[in-house]
Amino acid sequence: MKLICIGRNYTKHIEELENEKPKEPVVFIKPDTAILLKNQPFFIPDFSNDLHHEVEVLVKINKVGKHISKKFANKYYNEIGLGIDFTARDLQKQLKEKGLPWEKAKSFDGAAVIGNWMQKSKLHDLDNLNFKLFKNDECVQTGNTSHMLWKIDDLIEYISKYFTLKIGDVIFTGTPAGVGKVIANDILTGYLEGNQLFSIKVK
Ligand code: ZN
Repeated sequence: MKLICIGRNYTKHIEELENEKPKEPVVFIKPDTAILLKNQPFFIPDFSNDLHHEVEVLVKINKVGKHISKKFANKYYNEIGLGIDFTARDLQKQLKEKGLPWEKAKSFDGAAVIGNWMQKSKLHDLDNLNFKLFKNDECVQTGNTSHMLWKIDDLIEYISKYFTLKIGDVIFTGTPAGVGKVIANDILTGYLEGNQLFSIKVK
């Protein structure tokens, strides 16, 4: 399986990193080796001194599809989750400046947290989901899916033009503003519509 990640999907996050607003979604892939194993701590890799959290709403694909049109996209997922797209911001900055791919900064082992899943039928409106990330006792990121430039079904249509979606693939839908550095002993806890879906210790 693969993780398909969307960059620059929330205006305020685009502004905080001084990026340009894209005309199309920014897409990158993480391999399955990037998934942080359940109940394991996240180890800050030794190649970064500026490791950032990015909390994101996740979508789990439950049907194989290619060239999925937006109006049928909702048939390709039943579960919504929350996770973290860990990013070595210092390395990403160097790579971006050289116009090189981001993978080393975002797709290393452990760089993808996938929390518990919720049935989409339990969530009233997928385009109006509140989510939060706490670092220790402080709320560092809050988001609402209504602020996404491309909504879940738009993303599935767009991504499936390029990549066949397979059962178990996970879409990371982009992070809202408030990304920031993590250090050893931080505890990161994520909530979707008030439900705690993960809690990760940083080492
Ligand atoms: Zn991200």
